[in-house]
Amino acid sequence: MTGRRKPDWLKMRPPSGQRFTEIKQNLRSRNLHTVCEEANCPNLGECWSGREGPGTATFMLMGNRCSRGCNFCDVQTGGMEPLDPNEPANVAEAVSEIGLDYVVLTSVDRDDLADGGSAHFAETIREIKTRDSSILVEVLTPDFQGSPDAVQRILDAGPDVFAHNIETVERLQWPVRDRRAGYEQTLDVLQQASEESDVYTKTSLMLGLGEYHHEVYQTLSDLREVGVDIVTFGQYLQPSRSHIDVFEYVHPDAFETWREVAEKEMNFLYCASGPMVRSSYRAGELFVDALLR
Ligand code: SF4
Ligand code: SF4
Repeated sequence: MTGRRKPDWLKMRPPSGQRFTEIKQNLRSRNLHTVCEEANCPNLGECWSGREGPGTATFMLMGNRCSRGCNFCDVQTGGMEPLDPNEPANVAEAVSEIGLDYVVLTSVDRDDLADGGSAHFAETIREIKTRDSSILVEVLTPDFQGSPDAVQRILDAGPDVFAHNIETVERLQWPVRDRRAGYEQTLDVLQQASEESDVYTKTSLMLGLGEYHHEVYQTLSDLREVGVDIVTFGQYLQPSRSHIDVFEYVHPDAFETWREVAEKEMNFLYCASGPMVRSSYRAGELFVDALLR
């Protein structure tokens, strides 16, 4: 189905406004990068502004080249650079200057580093929390090749939400993800986070890759079984012709049905679900709203 016309509900509006420009300038002056900008995320306007205040942004740690090559992802493989020891403090200063109240920290996979970059993640969390403990921090981490020590290192730094993406149903893991990732390994990482701390756990699935309904249902059930609290669904969009094909553009009504199944039937704390939803979509607002419910 490559090349088929995108439906109207996937049309994007470019972000604009004074706050957008201010944040962008601050980040460039520190040589920091956000997934929001690099992935040209359609939600940028909504996330960076928040509903009444500061908002959410997703910082990309440890460079923009990955040790893995997933078939859905536009990040370049190989050629990773040494870690920037100033990055944790730089991110924390930018967060404080911009005035974000909810920060998502994510990264490429760094299988080339002995600890997978877990200490760098942990240091960034601590730098943010030391400056202002009221800032909520979500980490969206790699699987660290299933290393319990790496996961524990991050939990010990005290994030508020621990996210690791399962991406798709069990049958489609390997056409979609790098072979070093996998369904069971992801469930194990999430289970450890859920059992070994009081952090909220979160994961995301892309729809439109050819998954069947019963497979999505089974995935939700497996996620609840290991204690995952939050799930998001978004439409898979093919970054280029060399990436895996879009099987279908899933209708917004189907996304809404999955939100209801997740929240009402399976008792997830909340589910963000929609064609344009990404893992960190309005993460701050939705998380706080869910806690107040
Ligand atoms: Fe992209 Fe993550 Fe896969 Fe690397 S591990 S290719 S960043 S999805
Ligand atoms: Fe940034 Fe995530 Fe929001 Fe996109 S959904 S703008 S990546 S915080």
